[in-house]
Amino acid sequence: MRLLLLAPPGAGKGTQGERLADRLAVRHVSAGERLRAEARAGTPVGREIAAYLDRGDLVPDAIVFDVLSPVVVAAVGDGGYILDGFPRTLPQATAAAALGARLGLTLDAAVHLYAPEAVLVRRLLARAGQGGRSDDTSAVIRHRLQLFTTTTSPLIDYYRDRGILLAVDADRPPEAVTTEILARLSDRSPIRGTT
Ligand code: ADP
Repeated sequence: MRLLLLAPPGAGKGTQGERLADRLAVRHVSAGERLRAEARAGTPVGREIAAYLDRGDLVPDAIVFDVLSPVVVAAVGDGGYILDGFPRTLPQATAAAALGARLGLTLDAAVHLYAPEAVLVRRLLARAGQGGRSDDTSAVIRHRLQLFTTTTSPLIDYYRDRGILLAVDADRPPEAVTTEILARLSDRSPIRGTT
């Protein structure tokens, strides 16, 4: 199974990514975690990445692709993956599609998790209150939500046009969201699409 999760900050990409990877026995590939690990490593590219992360800006496509594509290629041998947060821009989506075509891979579904903005903000601020990530401050949260709308949400139509979009209401307890995704995946006849 090869899935990607398309969701604004706070919708539960990370949570659902882990749960789905566990239930489907495939690799969870979190773009944000990989980029944070690279930033922590303090390499020259890591320092560059850290500056984008702290501002809540998207890391440039070329850097993201360099960091993520080897991870995706490695996960192919594990029987599949849940891509969490990658691709997140149209250029990333077309580059990922080209990589998929080269490897002969198809994407089974793009899962769009949606929830009202007030819910997203509330969840992110709650995480901040628990000593969460440095980008969970209210100004940076607003900026990340805005970037989702301007830059990532066009991917919803991109994958809908390819017939692989699965939209799921994420304003529910995590288990209910996971159950619905798994049920709807198993309802579907083999889905055709390219990453
Ligand atoms: P969230 O969805 O809450 O923003 P993530 O962990 O998915 O959390 O992403 C955190 C940050 O990592 C983003 O704000 C962005 O700076 C960077 N990032 C993650 N994925 C990508 C991507 N595909 N392209 C560019 N930047 C990314």
